[in-house]
Amino acid sequence: MADTRFKPVVALVGRTNVGKSTLFNRLTRSRAALVANISGLTRDRHYGEGRVGEHPYIVVDTGGFEPVATRGILVEMARQTAQAIAESDVVIFLVDGREGINAHDHEIARLLRKSGQRVLLAVNKAEGMRHHADLAQFHELGLGEPHPISAAHGDGVSALADEALAPLLAEQARESGAADPEAATDEGGAHEHRIKLAIAGRPNVGKSTLINTLVGEDRVIAYDLPGTTRDAIEIEFERGERRYTLIDTAGLRRRGKVFETVEKFSVIKTLQAIEAANVVLLLIDASDGISDQDAHIAGFITETGRALVVGLNKWDAVDREQREWVQREYDRKLRFLSFARVLHLSALKGQGVGPVLKAVDAAHAAAFAKLSTPRLTRILQAAVEQQPPPRKGIFRPKMRYAHQGGQNPPRIIIHGNALDAVPDSYRRYLEGQFRDAFNLAGTPLSVEFKSSH
Ligand code: GDP
Ligand code: GDP
Repeated sequence: MADTRFKPVVALVGRTNVGKSTLFNRLTRSRAALVANISGLTRDRHYGEGRVGEHPYIVVDTGGFEPVATRGILVEMARQTAQAIAESDVVIFLVDGREGINAHDHEIARLLRKSGQRVLLAVNKAEGMRHHADLAQFHELGLGEPHPISAAHGDGVSALADEALAPLLAEQARESGAADPEAATDEGGAHEHRIKLAIAGRPNVGKSTLINTLVGEDRVIAYDLPGTTRDAIEIEFERGERRYTLIDTAGLRRRGKVFETVEKFSVIKTLQAIEAANVVLLLIDASDGISDQDAHIAGFITETGRALVVGLNKWDAVDREQREWVQREYDRKLRFLSFARVLHLSALKGQGVGPVLKAVDAAHAAAFAKLSTPRLTRILQAAVEQQPPPRKGIFRPKMRYAHQGGQNPPRIIIHGNALDAVPDSYRRYLEGQFRDAFNLAGTPLSVEFKSSH
């Protein structure tokens, strides 16, 4: 029985300027705070994690999901919007309560009605709106009752999220209630030692070839093709002492003895699998250089805080001159992955696969490292002694102690006074000190400050 559940996906759809990114930021606030404390991320966020109570869900802002070409913008937007609509569990369609409906809204509404997806119509910028009269016009879109919200002020937002998620969470609760409770307790102990691994990458980089290499050489304990689309497909295998659960990102199906990719690339499935994993192996077709889509997927992975190993695959097909070019491309496009190990491999020939799995193990160990308060505090004090934080005006930040606030990614929380003044460069300096001391290669690390004054 699969015990990994994909998080439900809410897609935010609407034309430019209706407030999608404002709503996105409000829904994903807690994750945003974590992401802000992970070094090296500069890209715009278009996907994040929201929560209803304890239950996480994925929010996708379709607005700028991929850079849009200047030509054929509408065509491209329509294509992306259509894909996000089809792959999500529920759509929140935003319109602008002040401007009213225009032709583009009608066009999106038409797409949505055709999709057959569940859609909640949100009328944004509704702060101070006189309800009934102003909302009435939006019934015209044929998408049911309009929900007035103010993304900027927060009015109506959590009620909207609750309503969007309620049926999905109820369904998940029913399904997990129906699962064998003993199977779950049996797993308890072994669970921690099992590495949940997602192999991510764009089409044709060699994901299924690698999976067949891994699974073919080793005893397959179980594989699972559960019925509902929201369940992750898992493949379990052992290698040496370790047990791995592969979480499918590729739309794999088993045909005879081998797995093959049968679905077209799905951004949302990739996101869900990355979210459900502890460690991600990002495969890149090195013979093809580094593409924008590779960088895109790398960005998602970093945003989730998952541990990461990068595999430059098809190394057998890269000649000497190309190697330098690949390296330059990598440095230029994937600089923000400096925490991750990069390995060369050939999934086809089975070369370099062992070292990749070793790096996965190390990344997993780093992501789940237990960092004791006394040791963290000693490292902090030594770092501060070696290089004190800069003054801001008359205030000198004072760092008292550090403790661990979470795992996968590790979060280190530093307590003291006047810590708001600590510049990001100093935060990165401390991060480096902790990384070295605890050997935390392979995982992002969040270093956060908590001031008492
Ligand atoms: P997007 O293009 O759909 O992502 O829209 P943005 O989130 O960038 O918002 C467009 C503009 O609308 C910005 O100037 C926002 O500050 C403003 N805005 C967003 N939500 C609200 C709201 O609830 N009320 C008002 N008055 N303005 C809002
Ligand atoms: P996926 O779409 O990521 O699952 O990619 P596949 O595993 O289907 O591989 C796509 C193509 O690349 C196939 O023709 C594979 O034989 C080929 N391929 C995969 N790994 C390697 C490799 O290490 N070296 C070379 N030369 N070709 C490879």
